[in-house]
Amino acid sequence: MLSVRSVTKKYGDLVALNDVTLDIKPGEFFGLLGPNGAGKSTLMSLAAGLKTPDSGEVLIGGKSYATSSDENRRQVGFVPQTVALYEDLSAEQNLKIFGQLYGLGSAELKARIEEVLGAARLLDRRNDKVKTFSGGMQRRLNIAATLLHRPKILLCDEPTVGVDPQSRNAIFDHLQELNRGGVTIIYSTHYMEEAERLCSRIGIIDHGKILALGTLDVLVAQLPFEEEISFAQNPQTDRLRAELASLGQVQSADGITRFRPKVGVPLSQFYQLAEAQRIAPRAFTHNRPTLEALFLHLTGRNLRD
Ligand code: ADP
Repeated sequence: MLSVRSVTKKYGDLVALNDVTLDIKPGEFFGLLGPNGAGKSTLMSLAAGLKTPDSGEVLIGGKSYATSSDENRRQVGFVPQTVALYEDLSAEQNLKIFGQLYGLGSAELKARIEEVLGAARLLDRRNDKVKTFSGGMQRRLNIAATLLHRPKILLCDEPTVGVDPQSRNAIFDHLQELNRGGVTIIYSTHYMEEAERLCSRIGIIDHGKILALGTLDVLVAQLPFEEEISFAQNPQTDRLRAELASLGQVQSADGITRFRPKVGVPLSQFYQLAEAQRIAPRAFTHNRPTLEALFLHLTGRNLRD
């Protein structure tokens, strides 16, 4: 549906994308997860046809942007990071302007405005000026404007940065509803929780390279451990720490010990040892394998460094 083939993009000497290949399938909710500066916005702009690659190509419906018709390009809607709205105009006036840019006739535009305002939960604010909106409401209106021409693929570049929790949830609901209705979504974020919650497939990007690609299950299966238990280091846990070495990997740093059992070692063995040392279960934190842990494993850094 949307294919990125061996794309490299440089800004002067800086390689923002380094030979990236990615195939987005129809109907998927694809997450592009990476820290600031990873190359997410650059990739989204290329996928939207707003930037051209230095080498490689981006195909939409099997056709390169360079040779695509306007109709083919219009399959893609792009919600950029910076909100592009007229602040002194109302929500509805803004949508009228966007709709006219897309060439929608007045009757059709009227119906579409109702549709997108409803989906963005902004019907009751339609006549208010955009400058009176919260950041989250402006973001929702921006998404609504992008949806007026009913794109089949929606690109959302970090749509929840600086957004209040209520609007964030409204954005999630809206995007999930669109996706259920058949819209393919590509969603970039540096929040692991968002990728885990929303996305059917995730690409982890850093320094312009896709480091890992797959469903959440496939990705976390790349971690060399399945479970991890952490606990504070103190005289009480010191003996336990010594005994754990035969059951798995034990690492201590900054007063915290992390224990990862070997494959096949049940956690009940850990808890038996803990009980023998009379340490209550509340002393332990059970860490599930996460994308954050995978990112750390792949790069040696945290997602939000
Ligand atoms: P992300 O969206 O993941 O934060 P970007 O695609 O914005 O990453 O940036 C990738 C890299 O390219 C960063 O090092 C950034 O500083 C650089 N970059 C982005 N846009 C430009 C630009 N217009 N000119 C020069 N460097 C840029």
